[in-house]
Amino acid sequence: MKLNIDYQEKFQARHIAPNEADTAQMLKATGVTSLDELISQTIPEKIRLKAPLNLPPAKSEFDYLAALRQTASKNKVFKSFIGQGYYDVIVPGVIQRNILENPGWYTQYTPYQAEIAQGRLQALLNFQTMVVDLTGMEIANASLLDEGTAAAEAMFMQYSTRKNAAANIFFVSEEVFPQTIDILKTRAQPYGIELLIGNHQTVELTDNMFGAIVQYPAGNGAVYNYKDFATKGHEKGIKLTVVADIMSLVLLTPPGEWGADIVVGCTQRFGVPMGFGGPHAAFFATKEEYKRSIPGRIIGVTIDSAGNYALRMALQTREQHIRRDKATSNICTAQALLAIMAGMYAVYHGPKGVKLIAERIHGLTILLAESLKQLGYGQLNEAYFDTLKFDLGSLAGPVHAEAINNEMNFNFKGSVVTISIDETTSPEDIKTIVRFFARVKGKTLNDVSFDELKGNLTTVIPADLQRTSAYLTHALFNSHHSEHEMLRYIKSLEAKDLSLCHSMIALGSCTMKLNATTEMIPVTWAEFSKMHPFAPTDQVGGYMEIFDELNNWLSEITGFAAMSLQPNAGAQGEYAGLMVIRAYHNDRGDSHRNIALIPSSAHGTNPASAAMAGMKIVVVRCDDNGNIDVADLKAKAEQYKNELSCLMVTYPSTHGVFEESIIEICEIIHANGGQVYMDGANMNAQVGLTSPANIGADVCHLNLHKTFCIPHGGGGPGMGPIGVAKHLVPYLPGHAVVDIDKGKSIHAVSSAPWGSASILIISHAYIAMMGGDGLTNATRYAILNANYIKTRLEHHYPVLYTGTNGRCAHEMILDCRAFKNFGIEVTDIAKRLMDYGFHAPTVSFPVAGTVMVEPTESEPKHELDRFCDAMIAIRHEIDNVEKGLLDKTDNPLKNAPHTAAVITANEWEHPYSRQKAAFPLPYVSAYKFWPSVGRVNDTYGDRTLICSCPPLTDYEFEESEVTTPEYGT
Ligand SMILES: *Cc1c(COP(=O)(O)O)cnc(C)c1O
Repeated sequence: MKLNIDYQEKFQARHIAPNEADTAQMLKATGVTSLDELISQTIPEKIRLKAPLNLPPAKSEFDYLAALRQTASKNKVFKSFIGQGYYDVIVPGVIQRNILENPGWYTQYTPYQAEIAQGRLQALLNFQTMVVDLTGMEIANASLLDEGTAAAEAMFMQYSTRKNAAANIFFVSEEVFPQTIDILKTRAQPYGIELLIGNHQTVELTDNMFGAIVQYPAGNGAVYNYKDFATKGHEKGIKLTVVADIMSLVLLTPPGEWGADIVVGCTQRFGVPMGFGGPHAAFFATKEEYKRSIPGRIIGVTIDSAGNYALRMALQTREQHIRRDKATSNICTAQALLAIMAGMYAVYHGPKGVKLIAERIHGLTILLAESLKQLGYGQLNEAYFDTLKFDLGSLAGPVHAEAINNEMNFNFKGSVVTISIDETTSPEDIKTIVRFFARVKGKTLNDVSFDELKGNLTTVIPADLQRTSAYLTHALFNSHHSEHEMLRYIKSLEAKDLSLCHSMIALGSCTMKLNATTEMIPVTWAEFSKMHPFAPTDQVGGYMEIFDELNNWLSEITGFAAMSLQPNAGAQGEYAGLMVIRAYHNDRGDSHRNIALIPSSAHGTNPASAAMAGMKIVVVRCDDNGNIDVADLKAKAEQYKNELSCLMVTYPSTHGVFEESIIEICEIIHANGGQVYMDGANMNAQVGLTSPANIGADVCHLNLHKTFCIPHGGGGPGMGPIGVAKHLVPYLPGHAVVDIDKGKSIHAVSSAPWGSASILIISHAYIAMMGGDGLTNATRYAILNANYIKTRLEHHYPVLYTGTNGRCAHEMILDCRAFKNFGIEVTDIAKRLMDYGFHAPTVSFPVAGTVMVEPTESEPKHELDRFCDAMIAIRHEIDNVEKGLLDKTDNPLKNAPHTAAVITANEWEHPYSRQKAAFPLPYVSAYKFWPSVGRVNDTYGDRTLICSCPPLTDYEFEESEVTTPEYGT
């Protein structure tokens, strides 16, 4: 036997599921002889790329990880005392392995389908409860993107709810972190908000101020009592936002008890790695009276169809799609997975545990301060929690050198240094620091009574700022402290949620890609997870190498000149891109260009982002085929040619079609002085075959959590980097702390210079292991899989909108509106799919009453068939309702989903069988996923909004009618 040793496993063959035989069958069913034929029928020839992607050859999974080990070693993991919003943490192992590293949690989608998402909804409710408790506020949301943007959201909420319409000044304490102030500058500009940056103790509050923001503890560590400031502000009608450190609130009087109107911050230090800047969950807490103005998602308590406790996203759930440019914010993807981790940290440690942790941090800080005092170092913060401030004068240089020698990073600004202590700091570390501070003065540890100090530590927090109120009192935070209990709690919630571990989640526009294990593994390597985003540049060579490569590869894929890796989600990319366009126009003396043309089919974040960028929105019509009405576009572009800023266009369109006229559309915009912004959510249909630059766009964002394999995490994290053509490169976002200036950079759009840096590795891994050929094949197979589903389903459900050859792109819209005639709503289909073991496709976007199906390339033929079988079986059920064979109201669709409790109850009074209800197709018996609650009641929940964990005994539910608006993206 001759042996072949050339074999090397190809990742592409793992990522793209259909094998040769399946491919042949699907091509045949679709009516083509080859993939190339299908692609040429789908993508107009004139926008096709002429050359293959120029990317490095694909690496195997094994080789990629080996190479990445080398790259990782170029990051130097020093002990971080930099603070400034980022602290090292001890991630409880049970949380790291069973949530952060567990596809059962990270492959979940945003919980729009509440009945199969009760686990993460509960975990997010825990997070809200924790935030409410610790801040002393009344209501909190289920996370924002980072502390800086949360502060900006707070400013905007204050601005939009201000009583005095003429007030446009926002006071910003100069002791707010510089990266936060930078984002406030970005956000203030388009609205004409003036920032007054100054000292809260001396500022004169005036009638033209609508709000103020202070930080607690302040940026350099000082703990101020802001009570008088808050009171004085309120007398003038000025509302107060407080940026608070979540860990400090365990020991400090919470802002809610001394007059804060909004409290924002980051929950990173509740067990989420620094990751060189993210991802982390920011929080936003406020008073009940503002509940309808809160940005982002809120989880609320309601009841299900049986009257039992159930959870769902409340109020603002689909706010942007309904209110568009009037939306309270453009936040769509947030930081669900990280919020879940932070909430679990509180569950695991409980109130006593977090108090011990906070006390230890505070105590070690005092130990350091007192030790250094004995050496003659005068510490400048009168009251502090975890951060000390010194002016070292001429000793700054030697201390800096000693710190680096000891592999420690402090936060130096000239001769001033701040040192922040965290959960990982040990008494030994403090001793090391004291030892070298002593050495610098020619002294030794013997000059310090270290052990005596250690035994006599008392708080330096003034009595009136010492927390006395209870927190984390709910049973949830007092029950799961042993590892078995915690493990089982996590698993019990996970078991309620359908994720990619169970079945295909065919969400149109959301692109639920495979999140391959090898892509995920490096995220928790210490060289990536334990890096502070403001670490010295000579310690971060590994990350820089990854960013350089990713920047080059994404530029090649989009055809653009450069990327900004800063925006933390697609909608943030939209905002960043529009701000770049705005800066470009301003720079050319065209500051009057402020009209954004947006097709009526656009995702709701588009108009919301345009409004945030200070633009006026003019809606462009779509024709009967779902394409942009070119005549209308042309007329509007010409009508507004003097004020035209840009067009925002999704390509292929949100209707799942490659519009033939896209090049002409871009030319019209350019001819009238505008720029073209392409929403890159549908990039999975473009990679390697066409590109944003090729169709004529100037800017686009990429949702890395869609096309480039970052998991959705149950509603985040994500990343939304933007690519720009050459003329826009100088305006890409800068940063206040780390120098990434491009010449004419706009202010930052995220707290960290490279956004949620640690998850960029996932996309890096995906591209490196696929290579240009693999990426292009992925696109081809995504289109094949979609067209195969279309072929199987189009005789059962009308497919809205196809290209000129009758092909869809990577997704298709199935029209369900006609079923309304006999009482079946699209929601009923979505809920019934749960009984068949599937998550619904995108519901009612972009067309109400329809579902949008997107399978991706990673689903094998038999999974597509299972889904099609389920959809066809449901269609027969609808037929039977129409024919009167099933009751109009008491049928499997209306009663879906069916829980195990309903199916196994002693009573069964429905006119169809239990088997029909729960095991409608043979494959379901082999692998049944049980929804944990019956259909949730949205109206009930919105009427009696409860957004933190209620004691279960409080809950006596009454039966109530269900009316559920249903959505997908
Ligand atoms: C997902 C999506 C967005 C929003 O992106 P996020 O990453 O969730 O902020 C915008 N436009 C379209 C078409 C989308 O599908």
